[in-house]
Amino acid sequence: MATLGAASLAKFGVSTLLAAEPDKRLGFAFVGLGGFARDHLLPGMMRCKFCKPVALVSGHPEKAATVANQYGIDSKNIYNYDNYDSIKDNPQIDAVYIVLPNGMHAEYTIRAFQAGKHVMCEKPMANTVAECQAMIAAGKAAGKKLQIGYRMHWDAPTLACIDALRNGEIGPIQIIEAETGFTIGDPTQWRLNRKLAGGGCLMDIGIYSLSAARYLSGEEPTEVFAHTYHDTSDPRFKEVEQNCDFQLKFPSGVLASCLSSYDTNLNRYVVHGRDGQCVLDPGQPYEGAKFQIERRHIHGLQAVDVTPSDQFVGEMDGFAQAINGNGPFKATGEEGMQDMRIIEGIYESARTGERVKV
Ligand code: NAD
Repeated sequence: MATLGAASLAKFGVSTLLAAEPDKRLGFAFVGLGGFARDHLLPGMMRCKFCKPVALVSGHPEKAATVANQYGIDSKNIYNYDNYDSIKDNPQIDAVYIVLPNGMHAEYTIRAFQAGKHVMCEKPMANTVAECQAMIAAGKAAGKKLQIGYRMHWDAPTLACIDALRNGEIGPIQIIEAETGFTIGDPTQWRLNRKLAGGGCLMDIGIYSLSAARYLSGEEPTEVFAHTYHDTSDPRFKEVEQNCDFQLKFPSGVLASCLSSYDTNLNRYVVHGRDGQCVLDPGQPYEGAKFQIERRHIHGLQAVDVTPSDQFVGEMDGFAQAINGNGPFKATGEEGMQDMRIIEGIYESARTGERVKV
């Protein structure tokens, strides 16, 4: 069993530096206080060394007051969606983290750039490629940076798997299987509203399959072919797809077969090489991704024991450190837009029944 220690983690961009003094940390305003912001991002930021939460933007004053109290945020730094633009006058806010429904990402990112702030924005970057282009242009005009919340880009087992693949440990990659899904509940939620979500399972969870196929292969697809399905008698799927399967063809000949669903649980990536296979199962949990490898098809799958990393600390401190000039920018707006370009191709293929060049 191979073990990856601190040196390997540092190689993967996980900071081993000492924490910055509180007044030197990047001050974030959280925009949207839903489940993901409250359950994962705010607690994650409290574990960071280079960021701190300093402001909240919410349409619910009572919820915002409770969260501010919990995280020691000054009540004068609570904003709502009407006075959001006045964050420009608050020098404590260096950056915003957009954790709103997908259809609101573009507007709130562009307004943050106009207020002179850096932006972290959750995935998917926006509903359309045109919105992504406008977000990137606004960041450039403001001279500020944009990062998309691709937490798996900082996940140690995922990075160890990528490392093994690049080192040729299973020979040339032949086929990738990437499956992501969960059973969605409340039919009235924004994820099932086309305007707010931009689409169904593909936008929300299938984007992980797509992203994984790209980072595991290390290539960009040239062609897509897809099917979507929704049972319109199910109140959850009046507007968006329930299931989506898509195939990607990469320049080297690697093929990826990807599934996404809002009506069954899926969470597994398998990379088949000429000489073995790599498995991430589960493939995209918040913690506890498991990496297994089979070399030369002879010993069966062996677990690789990887020292875990903290995805949330990785992405937020990674962004702060890149802004400080101490590391590379990963998961940029261009990266988010590339997924949206391919997603538009997937939806076009599903609609027309044709293969689509991307
Ligand atoms: P959520 O429904 O729990 O929260 C959404 C928030 O937006 C709420 O605070 C809600 O009040 C606010 N909001 C403002 N205007 C709204 C409107 N018109 N309709 C509905 N809500 C409105 O959603 P969430 O799970 O926190 O997701 C938010 C974003 O985070 C999404 O873009 C989602 O894709 C992303 N996300 C990412 C991950 C990840 O692992 N990276 C996980 C979950 C969610």
